[in-house]
Parts: sequence; C-alpha cells; structure tokens
Amino acid sequence: MRIASTDNRLIMSITDPPIPRTHPFFKEHSVMTVIPSLASLALAATFLAPAALAQSTDSLTSSSAQINRLAVTLEATQGNRAAGTITLSPDNRGLRVTGTVTGLDANSEHGFHFHEHGDCSAPDASSAGDHFNPDGHAHGHPDTRQRHAGAMRNLKTDGSGRAEVDMYVDLLTLGDGGKYDVVGTALIVHADADDYTSQPVGNAGARLSCGVVERPAAVQSADEDNGNG
Ligand code: ZN
Repeated sequence: MRIASTDNRLIMSITDPPIPRTHPFFKEHSVMTVIPSLASLALAATFLAPAALAQSTDSLTSSSAQINRLAVTLEATQGNRAAGTITLSPDNRGLRVTGTVTGLDANSEHGFHFHEHGDCSAPDASSAGDHFNPDGHAHGHPDTRQRHAGAMRNLKTDGSGRAEVDMYVDLLTLGDGGKYDVVGTALIVHADADDYTSQPVGNAGARLSCGVVERPAAVQSADEDNGNG
C-alpha cells in the first residue's frame, strides 16, 4: 500500500500488494475515517514547522548570537587618568581588538587583559576579579594556548602616553554564549608590564583603567551600520 499527498489531498493506492480484508487495520478503521486523520496530520505539520523555526531564530538573537562589533569604554580608576575606547570584532582570525588608550606614562608598557567579572564598580577595579581563564591554565605568554584565555600582549605607549591597539586574540569569541565568550567580562589596563611569567597575573601591578564588556541593548545589523557611515 502507498499513500501519497498532493496539495493536501491524499491518494491511496492499494494495488501492491493488496491488504487482506481480514487485516486488523480494516477491523478497526474504515478507509473514510483514516483519510481525514492523515490529512489533518499533514496540515498540522505544514503549520507547525515554520512556527518552530521562528522560535529558534528568536532565541538565537536574544541571548547567544555572535555580536559583530562592540565598543568598550575604558574609564580611569580612582587617582588615575588612563581612559579610552576599545572595539571588539570577531572574524575568522580570532577576536580583533582595536582602539586607543590615553593618559598612560610615555614610552611604557602596560598589562592588558580581560578579567572575569564585568564589574568596574570598585575604586581600584578589584571588582573585576582575576584574569578571564575558562581553561584554568597558569598564566603564560599570550601567543600560546597554555595561557589565561583573556591575557593579551602589553600595550605600548608613544611619547605622549598614548597606546594604539590593533591585535588579534585567538580562542576568544563575542556573544556566542560559549566557553570563551568575553561578554560579561571586563577589560583592564595595568600600571606595569605583564612579564607573561609571574603567577598568577604577570606582576602587572595596579589597575589603571577598566571597562565592562556588555551586550548592546540592540545589536546593530550590518545594514544599519552602513547606513550611518
Ligand atoms: Zn589583568
């Protein structure tokens, strides 16, 4: 027996091989009651499938969709002047980190990390906690995988105490809800250089500047980005 559906009409073929009239199917169902129930199932599937797709798309955009670009405002901690804006944008080379930090010492190096808590409320930014370190590794060089995932290369300033940042960080993601997602962390600029060796934080000293990495209220689409130049 074959059952085919065309435009919600059911065509039943009983040519191959014929089901004996003694088969339990015919004892419990007449053909006229079976056809409408199959038809309603097919109709239900037609209406339910798009609804299920729409629901899963909504949940992706609300809390776990990758963010294409996000700006982090770095604000000076108490008694310091270091401030700036850092833009985060993921692509196939990793998380790109670009921007400018000013108010640092001239010709100096400064530890620069993602810390685990997106909380800059403490005057010394201690509220941001330790380095972002989802793997539980020891602190190491940022070019290795045996490192705190949130540890990056030092910022280097020019003669006016200004650091231009443009680097890629592997592993890290932005907004996908995964293990290495930096949304919900904080960016910290330290007073001293990270030596990439000392445990647990590279001996980078006080926290001069702090910025929370948070999901924008409304994620801009690529179209809106282009329209606003
Ligand atoms: Zn740090």
